[in-house]
Amino acid sequence: MATFCLGRRSATLTSSICRSLNLLRPRDLKQHPRCLQTSVTNDQPKAPSFAFAFDIDGVLIRSSEALPRAHRTLSYLQTHRIPFILLTNGGGKSEQERVQQLSRLLDVPLDTSMFVQSHTPFAELANDHGKENLKDKCILVVGGDGDKCRRVAEGYGFNNVVTPSDIITAYPDLWPFVLLEYHRPFARPLAQKGHSNQESSGHPTLKVDAIMVFNDPRDWALDTQLVLDLLLSIGGHLGTLSTKNGDPNLPNRGYQQDGQPELYFSNPDLFWAASYHLPRLGQGGFQAALEGVFNAVTGGPKNGVQLHKKLFGKPTQGTFQFAENRLRQHRTVPQEGEAGELRSVYMVGDNPESDIRGANDYRSPTGSKWHSILVRSGVYRGGKPAYEPKVIVQDVWDAVRYGLRKEGVDTDETS
Ligand SMILES: [Mg+2]
Repeated sequence: MATFCLGRRSATLTSSICRSLNLLRPRDLKQHPRCLQTSVTNDQPKAPSFAFAFDIDGVLIRSSEALPRAHRTLSYLQTHRIPFILLTNGGGKSEQERVQQLSRLLDVPLDTSMFVQSHTPFAELANDHGKENLKDKCILVVGGDGDKCRRVAEGYGFNNVVTPSDIITAYPDLWPFVLLEYHRPFARPLAQKGHSNQESSGHPTLKVDAIMVFNDPRDWALDTQLVLDLLLSIGGHLGTLSTKNGDPNLPNRGYQQDGQPELYFSNPDLFWAASYHLPRLGQGGFQAALEGVFNAVTGGPKNGVQLHKKLFGKPTQGTFQFAENRLRQHRTVPQEGEAGELRSVYMVGDNPESDIRGANDYRSPTGSKWHSILVRSGVYRGGKPAYEPKVIVQDVWDAVRYGLRKEGVDTDETS
């Protein structure tokens, strides 16, 4: 395989080659972080045929503190121009805000092109060229702190975003147990978005085209009621009830057969590790609760009814494919065109259900092979994991050493 710039002597070589090619040197890293995501071979810049993907919580940080060898690992990869991407089921903030925090915490330069959080793939749904162009459609954004996720969605290019806070403030009768004092401070008038507030009947006239759960809902009861209402409505018109619901002559007994909005979830994790000593329910918990209510209302699978939904986040195929596309873009050297083949990606995670399962199950459309590496620095506490990785190691540094050894790279200096 092509020689890699590893070790002290090769670092000198790297600087020399970078000068001759008018590329940035390792010491320029802080000013130009993306440049160093490319390897240097004998005569031209070329990305290696492998890359790393790292989960964040439990791998690089824990309880808002950097894990011991996280800085060393990322610095090493950047210095040696080995591409990597950060792939997390976290979210609720813009990619820029989260990357700035991480960069400070880990003391390494990072940028948003190497960062995928749970809802990042939603951005493609606002893409003019995407299959499902929802750019100007009415999107109900669910979950997150205050209206941060609304602003994230608007940053992705969605031009018509409403939140449960907007709706409940306009129609307080929609959920009688709501705590309006929580929602009012960040609610926007629906009329500003071109929705008339009320018909003469007093019912809402809002039409929702898609429901996107961006992050863990803060008001499960309101959000459950509101999403259920829309799933049972006529074409997403709030306050209506489809007459097709329960029709045994229709597919899915008529449920979600009347133009109701698509339902998207960004993170299937049932639990996550918070500061409390036991795992806390995550967005997957809300999904299970909503599905339980939907099944209770419709009869559920026993009645031949399924909740139709679209899932993103690890371990889904869509999120891994999105991450792989990002890695490919990231490996491309602007002046040199496409990088060579990406043969291997090493997924390093602490959660067997999402990181390991996702990497094991992922089928790359271009044939890249993903290898799963489980670390002991996060939620995994030992024993036989529910989904078996290729290897179990202590931490992220050991994970990278494993990957480099598999690629035949001399790792003496990484011991
Ligand atoms: Mg994790």
